[in-house]
Amino acid sequence: MLCDNIRRETDGKLSFAGQSVCALADRYGTPLYLMDEDRIRQNCRMYLSAFREHFGDGALPLYAGKAAAFRQMYRIMAEEGMGVDAVSPGEIATALSAGFPAERIYYHGDGKTDADIAFALDRGVGCFIVDNGNELVALNEAAAERGVKQKILLRITPGIDPHTYKAINTGAVDVKFGVPVETGQAMEFVRAALGMKQLSLAGLHCHVGSMVFDEDVFLRTAELMAGFMAEVRDELGVVFEELNLGGGYGVRYVDADPAADIPARIGEVAARLRTLFGENDLPLPRFLMEPGRSIVADAGMTVYTVCSVKRIPGYKSYVITDGGMTDNPRYCLYGAAYTVLHASRHGGLRAIFDLAGRCCESGDIIQPAISLPAGTTRGDRIAVCTTGAYNYAMASNYNRFPRPPVVMLRGGESYLAVRRETVEDVLALDL
Ligand SMILES: *Cc1c(COP(=O)(O)O)cnc(C)c1O
Repeated sequence: MLCDNIRRETDGKLSFAGQSVCALADRYGTPLYLMDEDRIRQNCRMYLSAFREHFGDGALPLYAGKAAAFRQMYRIMAEEGMGVDAVSPGEIATALSAGFPAERIYYHGDGKTDADIAFALDRGVGCFIVDNGNELVALNEAAAERGVKQKILLRITPGIDPHTYKAINTGAVDVKFGVPVETGQAMEFVRAALGMKQLSLAGLHCHVGSMVFDEDVFLRTAELMAGFMAEVRDELGVVFEELNLGGGYGVRYVDADPAADIPARIGEVAARLRTLFGENDLPLPRFLMEPGRSIVADAGMTVYTVCSVKRIPGYKSYVITDGGMTDNPRYCLYGAAYTVLHASRHGGLRAIFDLAGRCCESGDIIQPAISLPAGTTRGDRIAVCTTGAYNYAMASNYNRFPRPPVVMLRGGESYLAVRRETVEDVLALDL
């Protein structure tokens, strides 16, 4: 199986985190997001122990909340001792309402409004990751009004194309995030930040992309950032305390995807950084990363009920579910691949179907050309694997469909972390 929390039992039924997928669908209804809490905690511990081993006690993995943000997730992150990265007042508010400590929140975003800045300052978020010069000035002024000195990192664009999808490539020179090194603008950005009286510049951040498997990408990124930090020391006489290399480690969506050995990759990055900082006669900075997908993706599964099966002879066949692009827009957005499994049957004759949703768009496909039992029929349950990241987080009310609940699975038990939205919830804003 794709991941060891997915099993086909001897009776042909699918189980996830040791529990029957069909029984969970009966109990909570569909469409349904399942999340394996034990797996989330295991993934956090993998990062925490690799960081401790290779970088020492100060190093901190920050969970990128955008991958899946709801209260219970932040409670888990707090319990595990993770930091978090947040990209909006909504994510910050969710984290704080779960009791997550403000000082372990790093606040991102390339378009922070005055209200956003005020919100985050007033709640004492530990660190702003400043994306650009406009934000620098606005943040400095807002901090001055409050008489506070705010810790910041600067987002630098190292100019690395990780050869992944264009839509999720964020490290190249001409992306909308950060300030590029290549054009000389990054040095000016650092100079400007050092001149801001209310800001305390702790170091640099970069994020080169997502679904990175190429072992070289983080090593090249580390080289570029270490080189730039040495230039900053030479030119401006400043030695940074923190280096944040962003997120991006890939996960397996289909059997053909490689498996990333993340602790080994972190070990390689640590070794390279030690060498580079040593050569430049600089102390190794406190090390941060921002894993999102690799913390939650393989902890997730989405379960649907089949509404109809449509066969168009000479063309194709569809399995149409009670979900769709409203709960998983990733295939529509960038052709993301998924493993799709029938939840109650495995053996027998198989056929190829497009797995579709029930939205009013012909492009509402969850996954094309998947193999399912030929006799798949209305009422059957279908599971889509590895949906823990960027599924619930990207869900919408398109066509006024209420969003599915999130059910957590822990030690053989299940509980609701986010209840199912109702039509009344959807209507609640209409005047
Ligand atoms: C998306 C993002 C992450 C998380 O990326 P993953 O691929 O989910 O690990 C981390 N940092 C920043 C700045 C991001 O934009």
